Amino acid sequence: MDKRVNNLIKNWQKRNIQGFYCRDKESALNEMLEVIPVSSSVGFSGSVTLDQLGAIKHLIARGNTVFNPYKEGISRGESMELRRQGALADYYLASPNAISEKGELVFFSAYGNRTTGVSYARNVIVVAGINKITPNLEEAIKRSREQATPLNCKRLKWESPCFADGICHQEICFAPEYKRMCCQILIIEAEVTQDRLKVILVGENLGF
Ligand code: SF4
Repeated sequence: MDKRVNNLIKNWQKRNIQGFYCRDKESALNEMLEVIPVSSSVGFSGSVTLDQLGAIKHLIARGNTVFNPYKEGISRGESMELRRQGALADYYLASPNAISEKGELVFFSAYGNRTTGVSYARNVIVVAGINKITPNLEEAIKRSREQATPLNCKRLKWESPCFADGICHQEICFAPEYKRMCCQILIIEAEVTQDRLKVILVGENLGF
């Protein structure tokens, strides 16, 4: 484990956040499956990192109740309802857009299901590749807006200005002309409830 990762885990301890380091995505998936009981319900927000781990697929296959708002064939209303149910599930899974070296976790959200789930679900597991670590909070927000979100807009064909050219134009990014993805920003500085928030940091580049 490099010094930067070591320091980050210590910084999370100070913030009452449990940090785990896993060498690769396979061990990260195993860690996650070990922590979540099969009897637990699970909510999650869309994440390339979770897809790369195969987390949702494995949880469904072994019998967890998973509130999946991205299921093919469901209506927009059904999807929004599953987002609400997901934020109230026993476990909520997400990946941050960026992490500062001091341990702050940054999440951008369009609808707020991600910010709600991460900030209020009974148990939260956050997974991130080491590529999401930034030197400080300012850089973490910058990374989220200028790097991660334009790539997510492209991936989801989201009708924002950055979808067209990969560059954030936040001053014009409002309805009805555009569909803005960066509507809410959550910064987790610390946790009050013991054992609620866990971060699995993976020693690989994952997600955007
Ligand atoms: S504010 Fe708009 S243009 Fe900027 S990154 Fe977010 S969605 Fe894209």
